[in-house]
Amino acid sequence: MTETDQLTGLANRFGLNHHGGDMLADCIRGKKPVSLGVLDIDYFKLYNDNYGHQGGDECIKRVANVLRDLQEPGRVFAARYGGDEFIVMTSGMNQDELEGLADSIRNGVIDAAIPHAYSKALPVATVSQGHCVGVPNEGDSLSTYLSIADKVMYEVKNGARNGYRIRNLGSSHSQEEDPALSRGLEDVEWSTYHDYLTQLLNREGFFREVASILHDNPDKDYYLVRSNIKDFKLANQFFGYDKGNEILVETAEMLKSGRIKTEAVGRISGDHFAFLIDSDNYDEQVLRDAFLKQSRTIEGTKYILQYHLGVYRIEDKSMDVSIMCDRANIAINSMHNESELVVSYYNDTMMENILRENVVISEFEDALQAGHFRIFLQPIVDRDQELVGAEALVRWMRDNGETVVSPAEFIGVLEKSGLIHKLDEYVWEEAAKLLQSWKGTVLEHIFVSVNISLQDDNYLDIERVFSGLTEKYGIAPAQLNPEFTETTLISDTRRHIGLVSSLKERGFHVEIDDFGSGYSSLNVLNDIRADVLKLDKNFVGKTENRDRNMSILTNIIEMSKTLEMKVVAEGVETQAQFRTLSEMGCDMFQGFYFSKPIPPNEFESKYLAK
Ligand code: C2E
Ligand code: CA
Ligand code: CA
Repeated sequence: MTETDQLTGLANRFGLNHHGGDMLADCIRGKKPVSLGVLDIDYFKLYNDNYGHQGGDECIKRVANVLRDLQEPGRVFAARYGGDEFIVMTSGMNQDELEGLADSIRNGVIDAAIPHAYSKALPVATVSQGHCVGVPNEGDSLSTYLSIADKVMYEVKNGARNGYRIRNLGSSHSQEEDPALSRGLEDVEWSTYHDYLTQLLNREGFFREVASILHDNPDKDYYLVRSNIKDFKLANQFFGYDKGNEILVETAEMLKSGRIKTEAVGRISGDHFAFLIDSDNYDEQVLRDAFLKQSRTIEGTKYILQYHLGVYRIEDKSMDVSIMCDRANIAINSMHNESELVVSYYNDTMMENILRENVVISEFEDALQAGHFRIFLQPIVDRDQELVGAEALVRWMRDNGETVVSPAEFIGVLEKSGLIHKLDEYVWEEAAKLLQSWKGTVLEHIFVSVNISLQDDNYLDIERVFSGLTEKYGIAPAQLNPEFTETTLISDTRRHIGLVSSLKERGFHVEIDDFGSGYSSLNVLNDIRADVLKLDKNFVGKTENRDRNMSILTNIIEMSKTLEMKVVAEGVETQAQFRTLSEMGCDMFQGFYFSKPIPPNEFESKYLAK
């Protein structure tokens, strides 16, 4: 029996059983940690479906190449588990090392993105990874690790793509911890297609059941509905797995009760349930009512149990059921953190957005290397309309600079996929270089503000990066202003208070961006002692509710004065706005009335000439 996968040259399932089994046995003997990770290419089936098998095969090969390069005899072992799923095992690695490996896989796969030749949109950009690591017990089997890692991987997948999670099993995990596993050993056939916790069909079982119903009823129309529990991860974290399980069981009971007339129901992963409804029985109101009845505040807590529903109206019955479920998931993910029960229907635009996002993700690194990201500068002036600084705003120059892509097209995607810090770090450095190049000119004393994303401090030591830049380019810290949005600052206030104050101690002028766009009270200004407050541009431009707006603005400006913060009015478009804001006490101004963001050379010829 061959132990090698034909397409990729990696070990296949048999190879995994053999070599992975040896690795596990070795770790049991040596009492050292073993890890197993399940990797799955994001949206692979959708791409395969849209772009044909040649593109699909190529993409599997590229992921396999990345894994092959990371293999180390006796330490890192990779196998293709089937389809677009891969397994990576390690021996003797601790959690940190494993995180490093997961990062290398993530970056390697992005780098290996399929070239244009195969399709207009790129068939692959990312993988989701679920790993588990622990010192194994006598008698542990590979399948235990496989099921745990598989679950972790699906939890990751339900969050976002391009993610990974590592579950630490500790040193003395037992199979009792997961009833599904012990039952699985007793009754293989049942557990292959069922979910032990809820007794519903599991993913495989649901796919199989739905495919057979669709096959047997060619004349009927169906809807595939998928439910997601909002912030279920949090519920698990706060109340423990028992409470989480209770919620899942209650949801399953409701689905079994017949309140919604379903043809098949399954728990397809974590907190995601899916069910098939005959279109004659489909009634959105019934769906809503049934799920609304389940929604409630968990006693004694502030957690509100809420559901999001994604619906795919089945058109092509021969389509893989997993793709239908993916589409329902796309419908769920296209909601923007809605706080109420929402029913969202899949449409092709959602798919196009995903494809567009993937183009951004897969072209990003090359474009960054090639210098296709440039900063534009938007002047900031004082009350006398004299230049005092500028904001660095990034642009993506595509097609040899013919197309200037605005940040709205890519910042959000890069944030979602954990890449934004690379762009931001680059932008900060470009800004520092410019400041250095202005030494000895009239621009010597102006400042440049740069944007910081919420995710940046998960990846970067912001304080160190900023100090490093000012040292490297010999500029004063007070010239390179970090801009945090109000929303960023209030997302984890305590952590950010620390970051802001240490930046200030080093002499940086910290700015709060888009103030007035979030829902924070004026008190945050007291807690987060920044140096500069930027009023949100929508706030400045608003003409409706003028009186109310004016009084809020007056309050904010007064408060800033008390706290000795400078106030920048952003989005100033008219002379009238400039005058009013100036009278109200704003210190600095930025907006189209003075200048749009312009390339640095234009900026220089405008101001250096003076
Ligand atoms: P922001 O930080 O609030 O930047 C100000 C935005 O307002 C800029 O849009 C600017 O062109 C626009 N603007 C300036 N004056 C006016 C005006 O008078 N009227 C109107 N309507 N708009 C004005 P831009 O350059 O498209 O950037 C959009 C957003 O993208 C930025 O909002 C910022 O959140 C983000 N962004 C830009 N560059 C970067 C970057 O390097 N890193 C990160 N993380 N985000 C960035
Ligand atoms: Ca900004
Ligand atoms: Ca702003």
